[in-house]
Amino acid sequence: MKLISDYFGCMVFDDAVMKERLSEETYASLKRTIEHGRSLNLSVANAVASAMKDWAVSLGATHYTHWFQPMTGITAEKHDSFISPAEKGKVIMEFSGKELVKGESDASSFPSGGLRATFEARGYTAWDATSYAFIKDGVLCIPTAFCSYGGEALDKKTPLLRSMEALNRQTLRVLKLFGNEEVTSVKTTAGPEQEYFLIDKDLFTQRKDLVYTGRTLFGAKPPKGQELEDHYYGVIKPRVQAFMKDLDEELWKLGVLAKTEHNEVAPAQHELAPIFATTNIAADHNQLTMEIMQKVAKKHDLVCLLHEKPFEGVNGSGKHNNWSISTNTGMNLLEPGDTPCENAHFLLFLCAVIKAVDDYQDLLRVSVASAGNDHRLGAHEAPPAIVSIFLGTELTEILESIENDTPYGAKEKELLRVGVHTLPKFPKDTTDRNRTSPFAFTGNKFEFRMLGSSASISDTNTVLNTAVAEVLKQFADELETADDFETALHSLIKRVVSKHKRIIFNGNGYDDAWTAEAEKRGLLNLKTTPDALPHFIAEKNVKLFTSHKVYTEKEMYSRYEILLESYCKLITIEGRTMADMARQEILPAVSEYGKLLADTMLAKKSVCDGLDNSYERETLSELSALQAKAFASVKALEEALSACKQIDNVTALSKHCKDNVLRTMRSLRDAADGLERIVSVDYWPFPTYGDLLFGV
Ligand code: ADP
Ligand code: MG
Repeated sequence: MKLISDYFGCMVFDDAVMKERLSEETYASLKRTIEHGRSLNLSVANAVASAMKDWAVSLGATHYTHWFQPMTGITAEKHDSFISPAEKGKVIMEFSGKELVKGESDASSFPSGGLRATFEARGYTAWDATSYAFIKDGVLCIPTAFCSYGGEALDKKTPLLRSMEALNRQTLRVLKLFGNEEVTSVKTTAGPEQEYFLIDKDLFTQRKDLVYTGRTLFGAKPPKGQELEDHYYGVIKPRVQAFMKDLDEELWKLGVLAKTEHNEVAPAQHELAPIFATTNIAADHNQLTMEIMQKVAKKHDLVCLLHEKPFEGVNGSGKHNNWSISTNTGMNLLEPGDTPCENAHFLLFLCAVIKAVDDYQDLLRVSVASAGNDHRLGAHEAPPAIVSIFLGTELTEILESIENDTPYGAKEKELLRVGVHTLPKFPKDTTDRNRTSPFAFTGNKFEFRMLGSSASISDTNTVLNTAVAEVLKQFADELETADDFETALHSLIKRVVSKHKRIIFNGNGYDDAWTAEAEKRGLLNLKTTPDALPHFIAEKNVKLFTSHKVYTEKEMYSRYEILLESYCKLITIEGRTMADMARQEILPAVSEYGKLLADTMLAKKSVCDGLDNSYERETLSELSALQAKAFASVKALEEALSACKQIDNVTALSKHCKDNVLRTMRSLRDAADGLERIVSVDYWPFPTYGDLLFGV
């Protein structure tokens, strides 16, 4: 039997391999680069590149690629082979330090939102030495950041790394105030839980909507959905089990710490949770996970759907971003401690997150905005589009007692002084954990649950890191000038709680009453992507990102455009797919079935004493009415789609897509789903929800 420990990370150029294959000097120099973000000099880079190439070739690799995350969300790679011409028509395998550290990429077909003029089509990729290189499909992949020659970020990783820097800077200032001189670097950690659907590949290929858009645009509800809740943590079917086993192995080879796999609430839905890692590595690993999931599924004649809402009326798929801050000395800054000092730490960082989430609710919402996720947020299954924080009653009561100078709990007589008293113990992981909250404190980390399943976690973590960095900066500015640190700390915490407690909500986030209450509290409820995205370029947010050097103003505007553009593109593709399916498949099938009904009706009538033909007659009349409705909707949809071409402002276009394209798609779907319910299964042109959801 293969032992996991024997092959875990076998395709990764990790620390152990580096130690083994690099000279002591080169290894030390590379470690310094990794740990302190120093730049790598060329001779070291050459040595590392050569060792990396030898290692990769020994494992069968022939090519290398700078692997990066363009703003489209998926990862991109361009393969170059190691071969280099040598004497007598032979080749040798070569890979230089220059090629390792910096790659050039013809980037003209990646979205840049006008950052790169088309004549200057080149961008460059730079090695992110903190994320290990790995071999995938015979290609050495070098995790990189992607920039234009002007230095503008063209990817999702560059801003993420910048935001981690910003948080590091400000956190170190705060830790110094507590007298901590030991900690020299701080990183954020992330553990993204990934949901997905698995369906049969044969059935998948029979549906244009799934093939082109990743979600079903038609489909009547099956008689059995998820109401029995028999799928959640249910027994995993053999075919799925085989997939999961294979998936784990592939991920483990790549050093991804895939940990738990289980069934989710919806039929055919599953989840994979990794063990958390430093955020940029977690982001790379999550991208890899999504890619490998799809690849492994194909091998099992399955298709892995990562769309946020593949099936209407069935829970969609999200991604839970577990997040915390940890120091190079191994301290988790969101871990409540046992001593007054540790508690003071904890409370200050907790308050920083509370204030950051309240001040930048809009940005957090923007970071999860996409056409796909719009179908989820607020649909009584995923957290609502309103951002709020769940702390649990114990922690909330502690904060309240600090705010109001009232004793905490029945037994406590003393008032709680931050920095002087230890916190009363509160249960860390209560089982009645609130699962409806978009942003929940779960003992020693926060879990942000609004992300869509296909999203990169980079955007969200960039926002989180930067927002918390900004608040810590404000805290440090204030506390650094205080005469008495403890008094200043106490009153700062009091003030933050009183000003930002509106964001704390421990109740049921799916409840309509919460929407009304949130509005009273002045919290934002940005229901759709076109509602949310303009907040990205609001003055306060531009100020946030530019002052922490995470984005330039130009980068922000270009990102804004790219996001809106891809929203519009997605919706128009969906609209066109629907119109095609209706015209080429559904309407003709309905006519054929109608003909059968009409023929039968007449045949029955012509029998001498006229047999009862009520089924044929009534169904035909219902069928004709719905078919006419569907046909009218197709035409309205086509009109809405062609109107898109007349709109050249992308903000206006996004509104048109939301208000008109989606609306006509809705009425077409209603009519078509009505037809599906009365047309004979033999005539229906593609697999139904029942086939798809219960087919594996
Ligand atoms: P649940 O499904 O109940 O939310 P899990 O234990 O399945 O909880 O998932 C929790 C996730 O949080 C895991 O991916 C885990 O690695 C991650 N996690 C735990 N501690 C931290 C931390 N300090 N920072 C970031 N993520 C963390
Ligand atoms: Mg979770």
